Amino acid sequence: MNLKSLGQTGLNIPEVGLGTWNYHGGVEPLRAGLEKGALLIDTAESYGSEPVIGEAIRGIREQVFLATKVSPEHFRYHEVLRAADESLSRLGTNYIDLYQLHYPSAKVPLEETLGAMEDLVEVGKVGFIGVSNFSLAELKEAQGAMRKQKIVTNQVRYNLVDRTIERELLSYCQANHVSIIAYSPLSRDFQRIFDCDSKGVLLEIAKATGKTPAQVAINWCLCKEGVFAIPKGSSVGHVVENCAASGWRLEAQHLRLLDENIKFRRRSRFEKAFRRMLPRSLSGLALAFIRGLPRGVRRRLS
Ligand code: NAP
Repeated sequence: MNLKSLGQTGLNIPEVGLGTWNYHGGVEPLRAGLEKGALLIDTAESYGSEPVIGEAIRGIREQVFLATKVSPEHFRYHEVLRAADESLSRLGTNYIDLYQLHYPSAKVPLEETLGAMEDLVEVGKVGFIGVSNFSLAELKEAQGAMRKQKIVTNQVRYNLVDRTIERELLSYCQANHVSIIAYSPLSRDFQRIFDCDSKGVLLEIAKATGKTPAQVAINWCLCKEGVFAIPKGSSVGHVVENCAASGWRLEAQHLRLLDENIKFRRRSRFEKAFRRMLPRSLSGLALAFIRGLPRGVRRRLS
């Protein structure tokens, strides 16, 4: 398992971690992943997976880099402190390595939420502070709201078929030492990547490299400077396979083939705003409307 440096922390941690949203695999797959060196676990107070993670890391807590998240409905100062204590109790530990704001919130000033996060660092309950689903503008605002600590990570969707962060966020993070934690590196529904790969290059490269398609897809993320990946596997087989996505690198010719042949999208500002603000049914209608506009108009909206 390769290690990568995490933001400006001075720490090196595994480049593949264990995602646990919608995780129902029990303790065994997590333990198998930890044994294979994926000593980075991602969870959130909203996932329901903190108790099983607590069980999986019992006895080896110090070896694991534990990342969890506070939900926007708990962004008031005292609620952040309480949410952290509740996560600590469910995880069966007395410190969180990386505490992340799960989403931006329009309701609570960032200074208040991040002030609470910084106070948690001060008392030793949190090691480092990160954000998740923050756009470039939101990330810069968060950086500006910090008094003593730095934002070390932004956890965002990134995979072969959704490359939205390449518009501006990825290069900014690379230049400013904010690590990207790529969620949904297998696109959540792995079949989607095959659907966007009409020429079958993923399978072709898997054959040529002796790796599996999932390993190739995850390694594509890892080839980007400063990017970690946290695939979710519910079985020992999937987790062990995903851990072996690290320890090697795709060659330039393979990266080029993937980039040139797999159809991907970069969500526009409007699409991101619709998805965030509207219920799913309405955002679908709004997006269908935008897709129906002439190409020139769409380009100006992007
Ligand atoms: P993902 O990791 O891209 O995909 C998970 C899906 O891929 C599951 O159906 C899984 O099946 C399958 N899979 C896993 N390994 C596989 C393999 N080797 N071969 C074939 N299929 C495989 O999607 P995700 O769960 O959305 O993202 C990963 C993690 O990112 C989450 O668990 C969570 O920790 C984090 N996340 C964060 C946010 C956020 O807002 N910050 C949002 C989404 C996700 P099985 O379950 O059957 O193994």
